[in-house]
Amino acid sequence: MASIESVTGPLDADDLGRTLIHEHLRARDESNALQFPHLYDDDSLRAAAVEAAEAAVAAGVKTIGEPTAMLLGRDVRFIESVATEAGLQAIVCTGIYTYDHLPLFWQSRSPDAMAEAFIHDIEQGIQGTDIKAAFLKCAADEPGITANVEKIHRACARASLRTGRPIMAHSRPASNTGPRQVEILLEEGVAPERIQIAHTGDTDDLGYIEGLLDKGVFIGLDRYGIEMYLPTGRRNATTLALLERGYAEQMFIAADSCATLDWFPDETVEILVREGAVKDWTITLVPDQVLPALREGGMTSEQEKTMMEENPKRWLVA
Ligand SMILES: [Zn+2]
Repeated sequence: MASIESVTGPLDADDLGRTLIHEHLRARDESNALQFPHLYDDDSLRAAAVEAAEAAVAAGVKTIGEPTAMLLGRDVRFIESVATEAGLQAIVCTGIYTYDHLPLFWQSRSPDAMAEAFIHDIEQGIQGTDIKAAFLKCAADEPGITANVEKIHRACARASLRTGRPIMAHSRPASNTGPRQVEILLEEGVAPERIQIAHTGDTDDLGYIEGLLDKGVFIGLDRYGIEMYLPTGRRNATTLALLERGYAEQMFIAADSCATLDWFPDETVEILVREGAVKDWTITLVPDQVLPALREGGMTSEQEKTMMEENPKRWLVA
């Protein structure tokens, strides 16, 4: 059986088990954390990550996809340490998470040079460790497909073609980024079944979603709990409609939770929670609330197994 790289070494693909494909154990600005470490309490950040990882295990999750890339604070030693303590399997990525900004280092270099850096993480190991990337990550958001964003997509595609690793592309349905992201990756020659368009579930426009699915790619219905983009009830209705239409083999369900996230001061987070912009946005939202609601709505156990156990394997193994 094929193997899949994780922070604790290669896993037998059949041993992935119940998988949340998109959850972060810590997300932050890495340059800020390096330059102003006094603004971060390492012990409490680690404790929150361990608490989340342990809660996931207690909820029956065996593996997470931890898609924290460059510019979102990727630190594979941190993930390895947390996952090991919690007894959770974690697979990690290489790539760059940006909506446009790129360090000058990469602005002046080609997509092929960038692809070589990603391939190093896949073949040699990440950040001086022997932990290897199981997948590639790129992003497009409100600014759309800028030149920098396109460069990163092409670099991911070329690294994917060389290594067989799949690509997770953060998208923004409200800015209609998904179709062009798919187009670029297909143009580069990536097979559709190696592509996952994350955050597609931020819309319930079935026409938009089916436009992507009909290209043969995977989609992420992966931001459960972020009510400000789409409330859970409407996310569930969309998921059930897509299951009804026969797309179980192309869908992932997750929350894109962050055990900690440094984007907002505490008082802003309190307001967001109080005003309902996010609700129960944790790593256990899917196993504890979403899956039971979907079962209630008619999701079969076979569809559930397809999305939570089989799709991760099929996406990850070339
Ligand atoms: Zn994410």
